[in-house]
Amino acid sequence: MPIKDQPTPPRSRLISNIFLALGAGLLIANFILPLVLGSQIPGVPYSLFIHQVEEGDVARVQVGQNQIQFQLKTSGDQVGQVFSTTPIFDLGLPKLLEEKGVEFAAAPPPKNGWLTSLLGWVIPPLIFVGIWQFFARRGGGGAQGMLSIGKSKAKVYVEGESAKTTFTDVAGVEEAKAELVEIVDFLKTPGRYTQIGARIPKGVLLVGPPGTGKTLLAKAVAGEAGVPFFSISGSEFVEMFVGVGSSRVRDLFEQAKKQAPCIVFIDELDAIGKSRSTSGFYGGNDEREQTLNQLLSEMDGFAVEDATVIVLAATNRPEILDPALLRPGRFDRQVLVDRPALSGREAILKIHAQKVKLGEDVDLRAIATRTPGFAGADLANLVNEAALLAARNGRQAVAQTDFAEAIERVVAGLEKKSRVLNEKEKKIVAYHEVGHALVGQLMPGSGRIEKISIVSRGMAALGYTLQLPTEDRFLMDEAELRGQIATLLGGRSAEEIVFNSITTGASNDLQRATDLAEQMVTTFGMSKILGPVAYQQGTRPMFLNDGMPNARRSMSEETAQAIDREVKEIVEAAHQQALETIKHNRDLMETITMQLLETEAIEGEKLHQLLSQVQAMPVI
Ligand code: ADP
Ligand code: MG
Ligand code: ZN
Repeated sequence: MPIKDQPTPPRSRLISNIFLALGAGLLIANFILPLVLGSQIPGVPYSLFIHQVEEGDVARVQVGQNQIQFQLKTSGDQVGQVFSTTPIFDLGLPKLLEEKGVEFAAAPPPKNGWLTSLLGWVIPPLIFVGIWQFFARRGGGGAQGMLSIGKSKAKVYVEGESAKTTFTDVAGVEEAKAELVEIVDFLKTPGRYTQIGARIPKGVLLVGPPGTGKTLLAKAVAGEAGVPFFSISGSEFVEMFVGVGSSRVRDLFEQAKKQAPCIVFIDELDAIGKSRSTSGFYGGNDEREQTLNQLLSEMDGFAVEDATVIVLAATNRPEILDPALLRPGRFDRQVLVDRPALSGREAILKIHAQKVKLGEDVDLRAIATRTPGFAGADLANLVNEAALLAARNGRQAVAQTDFAEAIERVVAGLEKKSRVLNEKEKKIVAYHEVGHALVGQLMPGSGRIEKISIVSRGMAALGYTLQLPTEDRFLMDEAELRGQIATLLGGRSAEEIVFNSITTGASNDLQRATDLAEQMVTTFGMSKILGPVAYQQGTRPMFLNDGMPNARRSMSEETAQAIDREVKEIVEAAHQQALETIKHNRDLMETITMQLLETEAIEGEKLHQLLSQVQAMPVI
């Protein structure tokens, strides 16, 4: 991406260099001068000083905190010499001096005291600034020194250089693309819109899960629009110095207005746009609030005639944004950038596959079918993983089997052959996974079982059952959800039946099963007793799918108990169903488990053939 940092004005660099030189000079002065000046008086040990006092050789003494200076008595025509010594903690000294009739006094405050203390105040900050500058330069912070701290760090995407990102680099998010194409079109030919009185939105917010191409889309807009494009990340706004965040915003918009028509892109808007009311966790973050307020007022401040500054922003956490940001006149248009569907995934794979050598047998459509739920970034990663595998296997081009293995890797984490299960553990894991597979085969809504494996992968999974949906699903009915819960409990149920005991391996299954059941009751309104009431606080967009439960609405003790009872009932019913199914197919389970223990993994046709023998429970 052709990105140019704005050059720091040479003048500010000159000034900061002068500061540095000055700092170094003062540093030398502070340490060297006292040495030079102090070296004129010869030093002697304290014991010698005491000895001379006792001998009566000392005329006068000046007692300082760090140094005692003393002058010997004048003998003949020779003026008494002056010596110095380092004092030790000696409370008897004044008494001794008095006894010997020595004239003594405390040292007058040092003459250059003001200089020393000035240096003490000036030098540490200078050192600090020096270090700061050093890091600012090295860190590629765009040579932004102390003196330009309030200046916006926005990068300007310069047009007409190599490797431009365009809309052809983005696929699978057609609606979002269409929306942004319209905006680019407006910037190129505003007349077409303004002549019929259309007003283009001031702020467009790209919303969607991570890795779906929000940043990529913004770069494509930059590449296509042919107008200046200012880009800054929300987290860059939030700085450690109060007031800097908001001055950045002001500065950014000042520059933008000068360059209109242009686009301002704020990535990761949630870093500044966090709801002001919910930030109580930090005890109210003043700095972020100021930055946000500045942003709001800048967005309101555009007069109609400079409406050709379009603010583009991206976030994957729209629910925490301050509502004020979403009001008309600000980010009034929100564009959902969601995970791609089947044809979209195929198109994205095509884009990224151009960068690698593909073998004859590669079927991108088939790969797309096997990767529902993958975002664009996952697919890009998948292609790269497949290419790495092909290279490792010494192939000239990427083959379909490389993709198959890459999918497993991305899904289940890297294969960890190093973790060796003992025979008993292996047996438990095998029965557990076969239990999942048997129940999953019968239940609606849980997709096709593609592979069972007891080769451990990644950190958490000891074995796994790979279930891939046969199609994209956006809605699930109650029976399907119950089926999923039963499938999740299939592993534990198998352990119960075969070993009459339960291991710790099933805890993740239980967690997921319980979460699903709770969602059925509290979010989807699927409970007959509790009715179609949402008991969750607020709405969490479904696509987030991050497993974070919502806080429950405040409710009576009885309702809470009723929910707990319902959840338990759903899980228990699914558990019974799983147990029955496995008992009913006990012989088949033995057959499959024995095979699995032998080969460590069963997949494809062989697996389908085995699982097709699963018998449904007779309906009573
Ligand atoms: P986001 O900003 O939404 O988290 P990014 O735009 O940073 O995601 O995507 C990361 C990378 O994933 C991109 O650079 C690109 O290589 C790939 N990618 C993501 N979405 C798409 C898409 N829709 N089409 C093509 N490539 C994509
Ligand atoms: Mg991003
Ligand atoms: Zn399991």
